[in-house]
Amino acid sequence: MELEGKTALVTGGGRGIGEGIAIALANAGADVMIADLDVAIARETATRVEETGRRSGAFQVDVSDPESVNELIDSVVAQAGQLDIAVNNAGVLSIGSVDELSIDDWDWIMKVNAKGVFLCSQAELAVMRPRRYGRIINVASIAGKVGFPDLSHYTASKFAVIGFTNAIAKEVAAEGVTVNALCPGIVGTGMWRGEDGLAGRWRHEGETEAESWERHQKTLLPQGEAQTPEDMGQLAVYLATAQHVTGQAMAVDGGFSL
Ligand code: ADP
Repeated sequence: MELEGKTALVTGGGRGIGEGIAIALANAGADVMIADLDVAIARETATRVEETGRRSGAFQVDVSDPESVNELIDSVVAQAGQLDIAVNNAGVLSIGSVDELSIDDWDWIMKVNAKGVFLCSQAELAVMRPRRYGRIINVASIAGKVGFPDLSHYTASKFAVIGFTNAIAKEVAAEGVTVNALCPGIVGTGMWRGEDGLAGRWRHEGETEAESWERHQKTLLPQGEAQTPEDMGQLAVYLATAQHVTGQAMAVDGGFSL
């Protein structure tokens, strides 16, 4: 129970990677507040957190809207009394080659993925710095380390998250706050699966989406199998506890980026 007595917040915690991280933090002893654009799924994760015996709460937020973010942080502090760990995980994805992307595609991805992390970090730091304690974990991607075809706008937004993380980690390093980026590899949720995911888009002729997904795991990942939201939770718990790890962009990618 290494996180006993700590309060965490996970944005985009309603499903997928955010949900996996929330449950891992709760299993390590933290109370975990869940925020999501979709408050109904935030409530479902909050219920799962409470089933571990920890306290939780569900909050509606749009991380790309400064007023909404400030309201969220105020509400979390009012309800929980403090904020020790913040996982800025909310994000969006669309797929398109550079000639297909519209200006709206670009603006939407940058607004949620890059500006959202900036707004959340700023509001969280305002609470953490005076207490001289905090752990900020910005969820980036392996697409924040290498370029992905058909995802140039998403790749740009995730490179931005890593650069921003690195810079603010230095700004607050002497104040007891660590800031790191967690880079999920190939996870079988959101980005990859379904007809609209990358496995569907990069299907060979005559191949089903499921077969394409299998092939991508085998060809892209030295370990041969995809990562899970639980894998991301394991690293989040580590980053939430480590005192002298800051400004890093750590991947859980089964060797993809080697
Ligand atoms: P992954 O598979 O990477 O976890 P998902 O799309 O399943 O990706 O999860 C992203 C989460 O972020 C979803 O729960 C979604 O509702 C949430 N989200 C998306 N946009 C926003 C936003 N603007 N503000 C808050 N949460 C958001």
